[in-house]
Amino acid sequence: MCRVEIFTHVSFSESQGGILDFGTVVHTDTAEGAPLVLLVCEHASNRIPAFLGDMGLTAQARESHIAWDPGALGVAQQMAGRMSAPLVHGGVSRMVYDCNRPPEAAGAMPAQSEEYDIPANMTITPDERQSRVDGIYTPFTRAVSDQIETHRPSLKLMVTVHSFTPVYHGRQRLVELGILHGRDDQFALAMMQAKPAASRFVTRLNEPYSAADGVAHTLDAQAVPNGLLNVMIEIRNDLIRTPDQQSAMAEHLVPWINRTLTGLQERGVL
Ligand SMILES: [Zn+2]
Repeated sequence: MCRVEIFTHVSFSESQGGILDFGTVVHTDTAEGAPLVLLVCEHASNRIPAFLGDMGLTAQARESHIAWDPGALGVAQQMAGRMSAPLVHGGVSRMVYDCNRPPEAAGAMPAQSEEYDIPANMTITPDERQSRVDGIYTPFTRAVSDQIETHRPSLKLMVTVHSFTPVYHGRQRLVELGILHGRDDQFALAMMQAKPAASRFVTRLNEPYSAADGVAHTLDAQAVPNGLLNVMIEIRNDLIRTPDQQSAMAEHLVPWINRTLTGLQERGVL
């Protein structure tokens, strides 16, 4: 494996500082051989480029789930190692740009997330929005499509890895693992059928979100048009706080995904 890092600088009006340095906006952990699976972790980082300061948020908010998916990158990296799969992961907080949203979505640069206002996004100008699209979203999507091109002969499946907060708007969430789909439900349904009989995790289809919440953008925009099976996995973040928990979660998911792939192969779908 080697890591490729893409950093971007975007020209901007002189009055606003001339050049915007976004730093490293996307990382690709490459894979050798002929991988079957491409892993994507859009919300891997809570880094805010220096020119945006603290975005008007407290340190607590900048560390919280509104800024990123805590634990998701560790799980995705553990999965990548076990599957010899390439992994594309974001290098910027989703408050700056949410790479699982298209530029026209309000949630791409949210003015609000759960109970938090995000002051830096409440007064954002159209030029600033475009600079974040150019500086973050465009290189992120290109990194994903580059991996699809590179591994097209062997690639069958895209898996996006996310985490969610155990308490949302004051309510405890009981679901522990969500298996989500976008336009193509084939792999998610097959995974639910192949669910380990003795699963210790409360596992549900399309919870705590569904595609109707606009969460399947990467799957629909990148996997479906390229003929890849695809699924989004949402993990409750209190279950993946430590490296040991992240490793155990990968150990739970990888054989399950492999078994699902084998099952589809036997049915002639692959
Ligand atoms: Zn996420």
